[in-house]
Amino acid sequence: MTLPEHPAQCGVLSLRDGLASRGFPRNGDSLYHRGFAMTAAAPMTTMPPADPIVGIDLGTTNSLVAYCFESGPRVLGGGAGGAMVPSVVRFHADGHATVGDAARRDRAAHPRETVASAKRLMGRSARETAEFARGFSVPLVEGPRGIAALDVGGGRVVTPQEVAAEVLRELRAIAEADLGVAVRRAVITVPAYFDDAQRQATRDAARIAGIDAVRIVNEPTAAALAYGIGQTRRAERIVVYDLGGGTFDVTVLDIVPSEQAGTGADCFQVLATAGDTALGGDDVDRAIAQRWIDSDATRALGEHDRAALIEAAERAKVALASADRAEVSVALAAGARMHALTRAELDELCAPLVARTLDACARAMRDAQTTAGEIDRVVLVGGSTRLACVRAAVARFFAKDVYTALDPDRVVALGAAVQAAIVAGGRRDLLLLDVIPLSLGIETVGGAIAKLIMRNSPVPARAHEHFSTSKDGQTNVRIHVLQGERELAEHCRSLGTFDLRGIPPMPAGIPQIDVSFTIDQNGVLSVKAREKRSGTEASIQVVPSYGLTQDEVDRIERESVEHARADMTVHRVIDLRVHSELDLKWIGEALARVRTRLDPAYVAELERAMAEVRTRCEAAARDPRSVVADDFHRAKQALDVLSMRVHEAAIAETLRRE
Ligand code: ADP
Ligand code: MG
Repeated sequence: MTLPEHPAQCGVLSLRDGLASRGFPRNGDSLYHRGFAMTAAAPMTTMPPADPIVGIDLGTTNSLVAYCFESGPRVLGGGAGGAMVPSVVRFHADGHATVGDAARRDRAAHPRETVASAKRLMGRSARETAEFARGFSVPLVEGPRGIAALDVGGGRVVTPQEVAAEVLRELRAIAEADLGVAVRRAVITVPAYFDDAQRQATRDAARIAGIDAVRIVNEPTAAALAYGIGQTRRAERIVVYDLGGGTFDVTVLDIVPSEQAGTGADCFQVLATAGDTALGGDDVDRAIAQRWIDSDATRALGEHDRAALIEAAERAKVALASADRAEVSVALAAGARMHALTRAELDELCAPLVARTLDACARAMRDAQTTAGEIDRVVLVGGSTRLACVRAAVARFFAKDVYTALDPDRVVALGAAVQAAIVAGGRRDLLLLDVIPLSLGIETVGGAIAKLIMRNSPVPARAHEHFSTSKDGQTNVRIHVLQGERELAEHCRSLGTFDLRGIPPMPAGIPQIDVSFTIDQNGVLSVKAREKRSGTEASIQVVPSYGLTQDEVDRIERESVEHARADMTVHRVIDLRVHSELDLKWIGEALARVRTRLDPAYVAELERAMAEVRTRCEAAARDPRSVVADDFHRAKQALDVLSMRVHEAAIAETLRRE
């Protein structure tokens, strides 16, 4: 059993069932774990009420759903930061629809039935939106009562409300799966500039999706709420700068505490809003792609090549958030090509777009009759504000530090959830917990999980276990902390990752890495990894029960029973692969040294057996489900037996030399 891949190097091998102590029972966990459990205390977690109100950011490019737990708001759904659903819907010929990542991927291949950016059409007439038609891969037509609609083929015409409803249905399903209760009510955000018709269209979309939109909130207001702005009990003037995928808007708003407003509630008053409904991160992607096309000899590009370049451009742009230079490979019709982008080039391409956003800022400030000196805070919203040049330019324009602590593409959803909690009215009762609801462990190489603390262990609790590296000379190890009952990391909830660096280079299996889990009274989990020889250490803190409901815990447990057999098989294939790869390496090394001393017929037989095992390792690396565990096991055993001779010869050779 082994830990997952580090970007630079590979993971860790557990000594428990790895080579250093082969035969140590895999399920001897209790030996480590039970002994460390101490007396029970009572950490807190919360359960959503029977009829929760969620917060939804229905974006032009991406949509999210969040819920406000006692511990604060959290974006719901899979992944570390919650699910971000691309606002893309594909209407299949047979009448069903796919939403999100799947639809986004299909877009290039099925442009005529895939709708993106439908939000631009919400509540508009066909006449008003005629100018946008070029940006849509689906023809715009006139729907009932002259409203804008989309012809998605097969004689089917859908309204923007129906498209939005598909996205909302998906978000609702994500929320229900995460919270474990039915979701029928939501606070939904819209741009500050949306008029009544556009707001009403948003409500209608919710109704189609079976959701009651209890409030429609302005996106900038939600962003301010997420930052807890408006709780200082004094009036404040803030600017929200929102640069998303295809739209930019800037809003100047005043927050007046309820006492001063005399309305019984804090008042978020929009003073001015300005922007550009055709300016955003997509333009940056297109500019990058164009630069590559211009600098390249192969000019004759088809539609598909162009789409592939734009997609690669976005990848390069995002990669530059943490690097000065990015290189991406693009699958063009003529074959794969590498393209590079530097931070300096990106800044240069963004400059004119950023300048346009600042023009709009100046307009909004003028309309609000205010100056930069009167602005208390500037909040950045939208995925494109991750661009360093955007942050710098905005800070310079308003002559103050900008608010960026929260994830810019999640802040609106988080704020919507805060507003939802306010609407729902106050706090909920706490559920007291005195045991760990789900097992805790770390990912090992090949995507399996090594559980260190089992579910229902009393808290506080402690456990530790020894691991090692899986590659020779490996100096880094990634520790991925997981929670769940399933056998594979991909089916468990990710709680966080951290890297242990600076392990002195040693052969695989030699470094001793001690991983310890400690859960305190409050249910806060600390994970520490320490390499014994060098004393190098790294750690992380997480809240393991964060946002899990009893129902969700029950569901995860139920699934673990349903999937237990299949999971175990995959886990076994992964373990077989990891151990076989090391065997192959060692046999290969031994064979290289003593080949000439061995009978050629034996060598041929051994190489055949090695090829048998290698084929299965490769298949297992591609998809562990495609490999029959028993066959793999038999092939590995045959190799184990056969390889004894080569190992003996290698040992004899070593002895002779010494
Ligand atoms: P919307 O509000 O329109 O739904 P988002 O706020 O989700 O849009 O922003 C999406 C945009 O953010 C996309 O253009 C995407 O490429 C961009 N984006 C996401 N992450 C990064 C990043 N790290 N650097 C630059 N741009 C990013
Ligand atoms: Mg947005």
